[in-house]
Amino acid sequence: MASKRQIFVGGVAVGGGAPVAVQTMTKTETANLEATMKQIETVADAGADLVRVAVPREKDADALRTIVERSPIPVIADIHFNHTLALKAIDAGAHCIRLNPGNIGGRDKVAEVAERAIAASVPMRIGVNSGSLPKHLHELEREAPVEALVAAAVEFVELMEGLDFTDFKVSIKSTNVPNTIAANRMLADRVPYPIHLGITEAGTKWSGALKSSVGLGTLLADGIGDTIRISLSTFHAEEEVKVAWEILKALQLRERGPVLIACPTCGRLQFDMDTVVAEIEQRLEAYTEPIEVAVLGCAVNGIGEASHADFGITGAKDEGLIFAHGKPLRKIPQAELVDALFDEIDKSLGRDGRVEVDAGEAAAGAEWLRRIEEENAGDLTPEKLAAMEKAAAASGEDITAPGSDEPYLKPVKAKRVELGEEASPTAGRRFTRA
Ligand code: SF4
Repeated sequence: MASKRQIFVGGVAVGGGAPVAVQTMTKTETANLEATMKQIETVADAGADLVRVAVPREKDADALRTIVERSPIPVIADIHFNHTLALKAIDAGAHCIRLNPGNIGGRDKVAEVAERAIAASVPMRIGVNSGSLPKHLHELEREAPVEALVAAAVEFVELMEGLDFTDFKVSIKSTNVPNTIAANRMLADRVPYPIHLGITEAGTKWSGALKSSVGLGTLLADGIGDTIRISLSTFHAEEEVKVAWEILKALQLRERGPVLIACPTCGRLQFDMDTVVAEIEQRLEAYTEPIEVAVLGCAVNGIGEASHADFGITGAKDEGLIFAHGKPLRKIPQAELVDALFDEIDKSLGRDGRVEVDAGEAAAGAEWLRRIEEENAGDLTPEKLAAMEKAAAASGEDITAPGSDEPYLKPVKAKRVELGEEASPTAGRRFTRA
């Protein structure tokens, strides 16, 4: 359920079914032109569609004109408390203004900013944060925080509509993930405007990425959210962009660059796959094509669940196999596996994605794979169990061990729980217990 309305931030469409836009915020002092521009270029390279800069002082507003001119992506000015800075930011050419109408000093000041924004065709993001709801909603906030957040956002929407300003997106942000999810679901039902999603003060790269993935991922999977920002406690804003892209890629909402698939490893692993995966991940950063690359820690399962990958490797102690689209390409000494994989990727990209197969090498690879699978036929790997469970579910039969009639998954005979009157009285209730 994409938002009905669409706005444009610079040349980037937000809402109305446009691809979910990735945004981040610079962490530098905005007035420090060199540092700010360096960070904007870094986040743009990482895939940010939009960038927001904080404008807390006059000198930041002064720097904005140059930033807007030089920035490769549209710039949003983040303003709090001071409506004259919002007016200056519009005059400086900001592509969008982020404003909390509740903290800008009253309706007249909001009206002044809206009037200037209409004249300059500059959109706004209006929104509320859980920590800064208007006073009259504090009691409701204590009783029903989600309803209070939505009520505040809807009041701001009505305020802007009353000023004949409708070129905006709306945000409701909270540090509380369930509240963010519930509030945005409710908001999406109530307003037609594009929705900006974020979890406020999400945390560090690890916890913040997880919280944002759960909160934003849930909403995006429901079709709610038109632009996202991942808030992480790191100076490196490009990390926020990378997390945003991983969320969008995981939900198959947008494509950007390669997708890496890697098994979690287990006791069957016979080579240093951790290092291999880290190297492959790093080298894939140089690619923009949406290729899928799989790394399997052992060949015990064959190519199995990675057969849909464009390219992949599976290793054993001394040797490994490169495969493409589920078919063996060639067997390679372990130490050369990563270079050989990238060699194949590069060659195929040079041929518009076509993979050239040497029949002799492919046959030798297939034979190596067959031998390993045969030697390990009795091993029950997680992948084999999953495949067996899937087949058994389809046929309605039990899963049995190789060479045995004993089912792996024996029917569980539940022992009836017996509760006495003391533990759970039935007297005075609408049922009896035999
Ligand atoms: S059995 Fe599966 S998880 Fe274990 S190393 Fe092999 S591919 Fe990886």
